[in-house]
Amino acid sequence: VSRSVSRLLEADAIAKQKHEALDRLRLESDLKQGLQEGQFQLHFQPIVNMLDRQLVGFESLIRWHSPNRGLVRPDVFIGIAEETSLIVPIGRWVIEQACKHLSLFKKQLEKHRFPQALFMSINISGRQFQDPHFFNHLLEAIKETCTSPKDIKLEVTERTLMQGASALHMINKSRKLGFQVALDDFGTGYSSLSYLSRFEVDNLKVDQSFVRNMNKDRKVQVITKAIIDMAMGMGLPSIAEGIETEGDFETLKQMGCEFGQGYLFAKPLSYPQAISYLLKQKETYGFTG
Ligand code: C2E
Ligand code: MG
Ligand code: MG
Ligand code: MG
Repeated sequence: VSRSVSRLLEADAIAKQKHEALDRLRLESDLKQGLQEGQFQLHFQPIVNMLDRQLVGFESLIRWHSPNRGLVRPDVFIGIAEETSLIVPIGRWVIEQACKHLSLFKKQLEKHRFPQALFMSINISGRQFQDPHFFNHLLEAIKETCTSPKDIKLEVTERTLMQGASALHMINKSRKLGFQVALDDFGTGYSSLSYLSRFEVDNLKVDQSFVRNMNKDRKVQVITKAIIDMAMGMGLPSIAEGIETEGDFETLKQMGCEFGQGYLFAKPLSYPQAISYLLKQKETYGFTG
């Protein structure tokens, strides 16, 4: 009896695997079609100065409006896009759109005589760094939109750093070309702290898992503070993500965290919403002009 049960279980496991493989194939083909048919959209989440809550930049975050699946979050499809290398054309589209929108935001700032600078953060997958055309495409997008590398922040994760020498080379080259680099989701990956001494970056992003738990768990609070202190010691301003409450905000500010993003300030916004947000800054801070 037990043998037939185990055979049944095996058949079940195989059926499940087949099902999952099929799901992935469908997702891959839907993604390809999505790119061809313009189903992607960029949203922009404000990043603010923790001292005065003034807007300093936006993080571009991809959204997929699939006709069969509805709104799909990036966590669901970026992984598959990386495995199938579809992230290369998708990432290229993201770069073009992010640069284009940065230029549109900057025009609004000029028009309303806002004094502040504004950067655009772009998430870059490790797989994109392996594309030999990566910098050509990036520089082309910069040129076409009359933006400047100094206003672009490339966000890379620890997982990307784990690719070793090639990632190191790409990060150094990015910075040589004048782009800023931020280490995203810091503290959640596999890399050891010693990586930090081998990479020159501009910012550390404190992952939202720390922010979410720091006021509930003393140990998490100690780690969060250590990350911010260490970054500060290396001259790297920290950007905390996932700030949802005034309590989170106060704690991080006390810790010396320079920049923040989160639902407390704004959710990721569509382009028109982001323009309204930007214009509201003028009322709030009363810029002359
Ligand atoms: P990430 O780069 O760490 O982006 C921050 C994520 O935190 C975003 O999720 C954002 O919506 C979310 N978030 C921001 N503030 C809060 C908050 O206060 N509370 C909560 N609960 N969440 C908050 P999103 O947009 O779903 O993106 C998830 C991940 O997908 C990103 O994490 C990034 O790793 C990846 N991703 C998004 N867009 C792109 C892209 O264009 N290219 C690549 N390669 N990856 C992307
Ligand atoms: Mg990011
Ligand atoms: Mg992050
Ligand atoms: Mg994340």
